[in-house]
Amino acid sequence: MSDKAEKLNRLFEMLSQEARHEGASMPELCRAIVSRKNTENALAFSKAPYARRWVFMPQCLRALGKCRAEERAYEHVCVRCGACPAAAIHAKAEALGYGGVRMLKGGSAVIRLLDEHKPLAVLGVACAFEGAMGMLECERRGVAVQSVLLLRDGCADTTVELADVFETMEFIQP
Ligand code: SF4
Repeated sequence: MSDKAEKLNRLFEMLSQEARHEGASMPELCRAIVSRKNTENALAFSKAPYARRWVFMPQCLRALGKCRAEERAYEHVCVRCGACPAAAIHAKAEALGYGGVRMLKGGSAVIRLLDEHKPLAVLGVACAFEGAMGMLECERRGVAVQSVLLLRDGCADTTVELADVFETMEFIQP
């Protein structure tokens, strides 16, 4: 098992233990972690210049049967067909001057992208579990992080409230 996979497994085990300890379900615990980390990281995120912020979003946002994104090693490269929210998120990021936007095949890609691009801040669009995992990994590296949770979890054709994503993306820069 790679170091990265081991780290993710450790994070997963930590969350499982915490959920058992608190008598909460895993989704409940993950949503609580996301909410708390959003509050704790808000100020640092707001101060990061747009050019040093990145957006990570999940491949499950894609519109299956319509999506023409190109599959690469650990990501889907969106061609902005407009069939899912990814196109609008790309356009917003471009308009604001964000450092980048990536559609990830899985949570392990977060670690690789943090290593490659060293963002100051990350906005993750994610389900509660991936959001919590990603936020803990960002926090461990000193990366200011915010998450906007999917409106509907699942493996495909998920969706997110774009107004919430845009509001967080715009969140004051210096
Ligand atoms: S907007 Fe991008 S990710 Fe979404 S369906 Fe179209 S090509 Fe795929």
